[in-house]
Amino acid sequence: MTDSPVRLRFEDDIAVIVIDNPPVNAGSRAVREALLARLGDLVGSAATGVVIIGAGRTFVAGSDIREFGAPLEEPQLPAVIAAIEALPLPVVAAIHGAALGGGFELALGCDARVASADAVVGLPEVKLGMVPGAGGTQRLVRLVNVAKAIDLVCSDQRVPAPEALALGLIDVLADGDLLTAALAHARSLGNTKRRLGEAPVLSSSETEIAAAAKTAMRRGRLRPNVVEAITLLRDANSAPFATMLARERAAFQQLRSSDEAAALRHLFFAEREAGRVDGLAGVAPLPIHTVGVVGAGTMGAGIAVCLLNAGLTVRLIEQDEAALSRGIERIEQTLAADVASGRCNISQSASRRAALTGSIELADLRDCDLIIEAAFEDLAIKQDIFARLDAVARPDAVLATNTSYLDIAAIAAATQRPASVIGLHFFSPANVMKLLEVVRTPQTSDQALLTGLKLARQIGKIAVVSALGEGFIGNRIYSAYRRQCEFMVEEGTSPQQVDAALEAFGFAMGPFAVSDLSGLDIAWKTRQRLAATRDPRERYVTIPDRLCEAGRLGRKAGAGWYRYDERGQRHVDPAVATLIDANSAVAVRRAFHAEEIQRRAMAAIVNEAKLVLQDGVAQRAGDIDVALVHGYGFPAWEGGPLYWDARQERQETAKALDEVERATGFGFRRAG
Ligand code: NAD
Repeated sequence: MTDSPVRLRFEDDIAVIVIDNPPVNAGSRAVREALLARLGDLVGSAATGVVIIGAGRTFVAGSDIREFGAPLEEPQLPAVIAAIEALPLPVVAAIHGAALGGGFELALGCDARVASADAVVGLPEVKLGMVPGAGGTQRLVRLVNVAKAIDLVCSDQRVPAPEALALGLIDVLADGDLLTAALAHARSLGNTKRRLGEAPVLSSSETEIAAAAKTAMRRGRLRPNVVEAITLLRDANSAPFATMLARERAAFQQLRSSDEAAALRHLFFAEREAGRVDGLAGVAPLPIHTVGVVGAGTMGAGIAVCLLNAGLTVRLIEQDEAALSRGIERIEQTLAADVASGRCNISQSASRRAALTGSIELADLRDCDLIIEAAFEDLAIKQDIFARLDAVARPDAVLATNTSYLDIAAIAAATQRPASVIGLHFFSPANVMKLLEVVRTPQTSDQALLTGLKLARQIGKIAVVSALGEGFIGNRIYSAYRRQCEFMVEEGTSPQQVDAALEAFGFAMGPFAVSDLSGLDIAWKTRQRLAATRDPRERYVTIPDRLCEAGRLGRKAGAGWYRYDERGQRHVDPAVATLIDANSAVAVRRAFHAEEIQRRAMAAIVNEAKLVLQDGVAQRAGDIDVALVHGYGFPAWEGGPLYWDARQERQETAKALDEVERATGFGFRRAG
């Protein structure tokens, strides 16, 4: 009994059930079994109420996701919740840390919920390709209305305790000790049960439901589990509670064993693994409170916002006062937009703004723990900045560059402290995109690397470690992909057909629309930089250069591969077709089927991904999957390119790679 993951003790008249399954009290089979046993021990006891609480740093943070890959073992969570409901005593969930997924469903199965101020609650099953399966959807609509429930379930929201109280998801916010508050609340309930299943469904108008469903479907990319979640919530009132529970359970079981859910579980574990570096035990990262950002353009401003959002102090540097004011204005606009969208409140926004100072003197970075350079993509400029940073930065400060392609070792060589130099490659928009490539050079110290990884965690990014190499992990693979797509355009298809085919595959955006969004000039500059060393026998498509020369630098210029109207909507532009015709080096151009476009694009991506792994640029296959999903809009439900590839017919992928090899010609490297 002593090593049971669930203990029972008494605080006078109240039974306290403590779940102790480190590190996060995941609701594994052993926990479910022990919970059921402890609830059984209470039958006929003299207790007047029960509190369920987690030991350590959290309540039940969630179900044990590892169990979802196989048939679930008995007892399953609904049986535990049924036992709580059957107990004649009121049961209070005392929540600290996180109560997510199965953890929150357990809390919803209790008669009341008391939470500490730092707690978060939510039902993120949709993110794992499933729907809640232990009554989550059906109990939620008895606490918030159907429209709000659709929003909460379909957008993977983790609701902080104060907001959860305002919404009614919890009953009491503990002011002081959580257990004391929970015991008091259990006593205040007297002997009455408050089963959520017996409460009425809080309906919404058809219009509200339709609006919430529309937003959820768009955000959830119409995935089957999102559609199912909406149906379960919308239909909550259409059948008795028990019938709806059974319907929810059946949907959960079916979705749990789907290919999509398996792919999303792979990503879930790969994300956790990606930030780990073997062999660094015993090294401690440096503490980070104050961060300098050099350059307040598109990236610098976005990086500053995500640092401020994480509660860090930011010192922003520009080359002149005018550029500095523009940068600060951009940051203020983003902070204001976050208030408008409800992402933060006015006082949070004000304290974030107050944590920002601007200057045109690099010397003002002297107290920074870490400095991120996001100036122009030009080696000489970056080397000059790093040489000057070296003179002003604290001796222990970590110096980072946000370069997309440049050789970070060459940038580090401009300093006397190459061991303190890393790459921190953010993605645009930096305050939104989840991925952060943390790049180490051969000189980078373990401590500098770990400090970069720690910063990633602090600001809520998913870190992937990359070694040096042109384009690191993501941009290198993306360049091979884009190049293959440009070949296909030169061979006869159109940018819009390529984009449509790849969007149909699941990419958030096709490659040409992405190029327009990020600006065609970055890749143009890279091509110019590499021109001197390019072998003339290599296939080279001149169309993008001609677009750039015509001033078509993408969305910011109102034209690129597409034309953009005043509202920023993209339109097919006949001028682009003419330009392609005039500059195509392929004599006989032909039409392409969407499948052929997808096949060749995927073969190019997978081949380069394997080379990245083979060359030791990425540590593991999962890191590449994570990078492509979180930085490049690769469909998460396919699990990333290497996970996807492992599930394809080998003969088919080999044939597709042959096509890519033929199309690429001289210099093509086939992964082993
Ligand atoms: P940008 O042109 O929008 O901004 C660069 C800013 O740096 C400008 O405001 C400029 O005034 C400032 N600057 C230049 N020299 C400076 C100096 N010596 N001191 C202080 N400030 C200086 O460029 P961006 O798109 O923000 O890109 C910045 C860096 O981030 C580049 O290295 C780029 O490759 C990289 N990056 C860009 C993207 C993207 O999608 N735009 C994505 C990832 C990384």
